[in-house]
Amino acid sequence: MSKVLKLLQDAVGTEYVSDEDFITYAYARGIDSALPPNPPDYVVKPGTAEEVAEVVKIANKFKIPIVPRGGGCCLLGGSKPIEKGSIVLDTARMHKILNIDENTLTVTVETGITWAELNSKLNELGYYTGNLGPGSGISAVVGGGLSHHSVGGGGGAKYGTCTQHCVALEVVLPNGEIINTGSNASVYTKEPFCRFGFGPDLTGLFLGDNGLLGIKTKATLEIFPKPPYHAAKTFTMEEPSPENAAKIWLAWRKRGDLGIFDSQLWTLTMVLGTQLLTDVPQIKPWVGLTKAVFFYTMEAETEEELEANMKIVDRICKENGCTELGPELKDGNYAKWHYEEQGHWLTFHGIWGGMGPGSIPLTTEVHVPIHRFPHIAHKLDEWEAAHKAELDANGGMQSGISTALLCGHTTVEVDCGLLAWDKPQHREKNLELWKSQLEMLIREGGMPYMLGEIYSKGLIDTEAFNGSYYSFLKSIKQALDPNRIISPGKFYL
Ligand SMILES: Cc1cc2nc3c(=O)[nH]c(=O)nc-3n(C[C@H](O)[C@H](O)[C@H](O)COP(=O)(O)OP(=O)(O)OC[C@H]3O[C@@H](n4cnc5c(N)ncnc54)[C@H](O)[C@@H]3O)c2cc1C
Repeated sequence: MSKVLKLLQDAVGTEYVSDEDFITYAYARGIDSALPPNPPDYVVKPGTAEEVAEVVKIANKFKIPIVPRGGGCCLLGGSKPIEKGSIVLDTARMHKILNIDENTLTVTVETGITWAELNSKLNELGYYTGNLGPGSGISAVVGGGLSHHSVGGGGGAKYGTCTQHCVALEVVLPNGEIINTGSNASVYTKEPFCRFGFGPDLTGLFLGDNGLLGIKTKATLEIFPKPPYHAAKTFTMEEPSPENAAKIWLAWRKRGDLGIFDSQLWTLTMVLGTQLLTDVPQIKPWVGLTKAVFFYTMEAETEEELEANMKIVDRICKENGCTELGPELKDGNYAKWHYEEQGHWLTFHGIWGGMGPGSIPLTTEVHVPIHRFPHIAHKLDEWEAAHKAELDANGGMQSGISTALLCGHTTVEVDCGLLAWDKPQHREKNLELWKSQLEMLIREGGMPYMLGEIYSKGLIDTEAFNGSYYSFLKSIKQALDPNRIISPGKFYL
């Protein structure tokens, strides 16, 4: 037995560390099936922050890279090793809810808990985390979402990204020290309640870091009471749907808070594609539709507030090319399922499953300001036209925007990318086309947030960082992680 294996076993327990092929190969990739697999040398599953710290200290001693992994649902190669001879540190055993505090309106969790498990517990008490995490929230965990600035599983229009309501973190630093941020940085405060104070926002330093700067082991998130009233409506939308959707979203935002919880555009490409691909029965009523679909869900404290806001919202929808489908799911009112039965988490797992093993998603998600959403849509069309011959020759790859959603007050999150057939002869070209599209999106001002290997390097390749930003990031990484232990290779660091 190797010395490292023995030390890791001593740190986390024999049953929670492995160097066996059948385990390490299971961690050779995340859901990023387009990228080449790279098995780690060891997989460890610590049960506490202290055990994580021990593993990090061993890694420093032997100069072994560590990749933190939550649900493994990063689509851009973030949760698998980039370098050879790595440790994948799986946070799955750290999944406890430590405290639901109804006085501070916060929940403190270990970061390996899934968004679905956390919110189902909160729901029993009438709360939710506001943003419900990503659309992969049945598998994806709080640590992964906070490392990505995830949005999409629900509540994005009302609460923004899942990082916006993170109050405090416990992080194991790359040297094995454990720090607490937010109000937990004070020895005098009695509980985590506030992110700001005591100097710079060091919670924010680790949020969206894509696993670069440390391993988050605990997180405190704000919780919100679920309002008693809601509405959910689905519409067909005339083309050009990105223009119409952007007009609606801007008009809503200029009216102030209308209680919109989620709003999404499913482009015509997506509507037609899902009719063919998916077994999600709640989308089946759309079979035969030849228009884009647009929906919103809305919350309110009183029936009167709901009615008044709905009137404004519906009028703006109607003025911008929307025709309402009926009120029930069988009429095509997908929004009802999305809100009332956790369709926000169930849909995308179903769609991914429906694609089957023969096809692979080369996906990305970027933020753009609401008014620039149509511009990005045009640029994607232009890119597709310019690469049509290559897409056709490479097995008939599909390109375009799938869904777009309102994120917070100012932003649209655009889900786009390519769908390819997984044939060995196409793989190299798949990656080349994917990278070309990702770079175009950056150059057109898109802000990617799920970066993984591909996009973190793409930011450097396209010289996207303004002025001294990259050298500042490099200095932080160098100061925190001089031995390049945590996630080496991301951002070329
Ligand atoms: C079906 C499906 C639907 C999706 N829908 C969405 C969506 O709606 N919105 C969205 O934003 N994304 C979506 N994604 C992408 C992805 O699932 C999410 O971004 C999700 O938040 C990743 O969480 P995870 O736990 O799987 O993270 P992982 O893939 O395990 O990790 C993500 C990154 O965070 C790092 N990391 C993980 N845990 C820690 C930790 N404790 N400390 C430090 N770093 C850590 C990893 O190293 C990696 O770089 C979807 C993916 C799929 C397959």
